Amino acid sequence: SAKRSGGNRMKIFNEQMRVSVQERIAGEKLLREALAGNREETLPVWFQPIVRAENGEIVGAEALIRMRAADGSIIGPNQFIPAAEETGMIVPLGEHVLIMALRHLVEWRHDIGYISVNVSPRQLAEPDFVPLLADLLAANPEIDPKRLVLEITETALLGSSLDVRERLETIKSLGVRIALDDFGTGYSSLTWLQNIPADVVKLDRSFVAGLSSDARKSSIIQAVLWLAKSLGMSAVAEGVEEEADQHALHAAGCELLQGYLFGKPMPPVEFGERVQRSSMATTP
Ligand code: C2E
Ligand code: MG
Ligand code: MG
Ligand code: MG
Repeated sequence: SAKRSGGNRMKIFNEQMRVSVQERIAGEKLLREALAGNREETLPVWFQPIVRAENGEIVGAEALIRMRAADGSIIGPNQFIPAAEETGMIVPLGEHVLIMALRHLVEWRHDIGYISVNVSPRQLAEPDFVPLLADLLAANPEIDPKRLVLEITETALLGSSLDVRERLETIKSLGVRIALDDFGTGYSSLTWLQNIPADVVKLDRSFVAGLSSDARKSSIIQAVLWLAKSLGMSAVAEGVEEEADQHALHAAGCELLQGYLFGKPMPPVEFGERVQRSSMATTP
């Protein structure tokens, strides 16, 4: 009967909820332990190349957090960033990522122009965020703040837009640049573009992947690139996996690209070797 199948569905639903609550608690515990441990071991920050569309030359990197489990396996951020946000653990986590990014800006000063760091809504809402950033930059006076880019998503602005806007202005006054991440996936991208003092737009992978064989995607990309240019912003296309898309983006005037075609996120040692090799290749 309908009643019985409804009952079964309910049972299955409850079963899944129970599992996910348990998983969530386990995830939070792992994260708490990772933060209490040697963070460089337990919370490695990996780097993905950002390259010039023209020739694939590495000009920057996006810092992307990982978690290393006790068995050595690597857990991706989609598995723990939401819990980190909800519990507030994103605050120490984000501080760790910033520290690692600045350290690598020093280490790779001759090799790459900039490092981009993701900042989540909760971090941005934290009153201590801007003072922390200012302190970290003051402690690293050899780093030109322009070499640090903070990536924010549209959700960072929901709710507290006036405060957040002021905060972004303060961040910019430190010389740090702002990028709009996952651009085009939200509900009010144009409003956002109008209100947020960003320097860079990152075109979301969903518009980028396969664009060379999709006329609609290609039109949208061209329009967004035109818009970005008119507003004095630079554009980075995310999720470039095919050479045909690289060529199409270059032809459309997108100067910077990121995607598996040029490299997946990798540990800093590997990234360092990679940039060294490519700078040797361009030395006569
Ligand atoms: P995101 O900031 O949009 O980062 C880009 C994501 O796309 C990364 O996934 C990257 O590995 C992936 N990606 C890059 N190129 C390609 C491609 O060609 N094909 C495909 N299929 N994927 C590509 P990842 O590292 O798993 O990070 C996922 C998300 O987690 C990030 O999305 C960001 O929102 C968040 N995240 C990562 N690190 C941090 C962090 O340190 N702090 C905060 N708050 N969030 C972070
Ligand atoms: Mg990002
Ligand atoms: Mg993105
Ligand atoms: Mg994304």
